[in-house]
Amino acid sequence: MKISKAKKILTDSICPSYGERRLILQSGKGCCVFDAAGKKYIDLLSGIAVSSMGHSNKKVCEAINAQAQKLIHTSNLYYNIPQLTLSEKLSKNLNHEYKMFYCNSGAEANESAIKLTRKFTGNPEKSGIITFKNSFHGRTLATVTATGQPKYHNPFKPLPPDFYYAEFNSIESVKKLINRKTSAIMIELIQCEGGVNIASKKFVKELVKLCSENKILLIIDEVQTGTGRTGKFFCFEHYGIKPDIVTIAKGIAAGVPMGIMFAKKNIADAFAPGDHASTFGGGPLACAAAKTVVEHLNKNNLLKILQNGEYFKKKIEDLKHPLVKEVRGIGLIIGIELKQECGNEIQLKCEENGLLTNSIHNTVIRLVPPLIIDKKIIGESVKILKKSFDNIYLKYKGGEHL
Ligand SMILES: *Cc1c(COP(=O)(O)O)cnc(C)c1O
Repeated sequence: MKISKAKKILTDSICPSYGERRLILQSGKGCCVFDAAGKKYIDLLSGIAVSSMGHSNKKVCEAINAQAQKLIHTSNLYYNIPQLTLSEKLSKNLNHEYKMFYCNSGAEANESAIKLTRKFTGNPEKSGIITFKNSFHGRTLATVTATGQPKYHNPFKPLPPDFYYAEFNSIESVKKLINRKTSAIMIELIQCEGGVNIASKKFVKELVKLCSENKILLIIDEVQTGTGRTGKFFCFEHYGIKPDIVTIAKGIAAGVPMGIMFAKKNIADAFAPGDHASTFGGGPLACAAAKTVVEHLNKNNLLKILQNGEYFKKKIEDLKHPLVKEVRGIGLIIGIELKQECGNEIQLKCEENGLLTNSIHNTVIRLVPPLIIDKKIIGESVKILKKSFDNIYLKYKGGEHL
């Protein structure tokens, strides 16, 4: 079938809630994907920080294949064996201090955190949740309301009440919003969709103190930063803190849908049978895939992620490219802030040159490659980045833009 015809079928049949999609991807291997025309791309986006083990990873494929032949689905009316193995491993990672709720996406994990907060607080008067401007927590009605970006709210009003938005990294702005109604603060330690903005250690420490002084729950959204992305299993480990509730999703099951909410045991136990559920949550197939990811993320490989991230950042910094203002991130989440609004053009140029990246707000290029990326592929990627930056720079040079 002609690609143009395939695209017509797709646009005619799928809700137009996404922007234009130029590529139809067909296969992948390691850190690369191939489109329907057979063109190869180095994948520095990994399906938005999801394909943590790269593409067609042998261990992941074998685990999924073996489990598919045994049992794909059970519902939560029954336990299953991969869920047992995974839960044991994850609980151990967290010193057996938390209990989990399995679901299927980041939004669902955050929605669970919001519902659990309501149940634990047990007081309809105490329904306030503080989140941050420019944050991203998902697209369900409650999580999109938690998301501090009015453009995602406006078409969907009325929204669930009692979400308040503080300035990221400003403890004063959080203090101003706290009152007797406040039940929780929800935060990403690195605002990912917001442009790879990192919470300062001082701010997070003050936030923890504020929460404990005011009996407010601290919910950390690690949907994107969790599961090894920053070189620790959870990003909060870099801060030496322990949240009351933490959510993960994206990379946890190597591309099979899975979200998990972890809550400290005394908080988790506020849920009683019937309070919350998910038909697919914690299914055997997703748990079998997640087990390969959790096993991969041993001390050694986590350290490699951190080191490769530093190497990657340094390589980009070393380009000293006139379009680049700043390179930031922890581990394998990297944001390249641009001196001018040309992110979308750069993303497109990278794509032409065989590299998948992601432009945020037209001013930051976000890189979230598979966690298995190595120095060789980082080197190749930086070459293509340089070429693409040069292409765009040449276009502007001499003009009034720079
Ligand atoms: C992607 C993301 C979500 C939403 O996850 P979905 O699986 O798309 O529902 C929530 N929070 C953060 C920080 C994310 O990056």
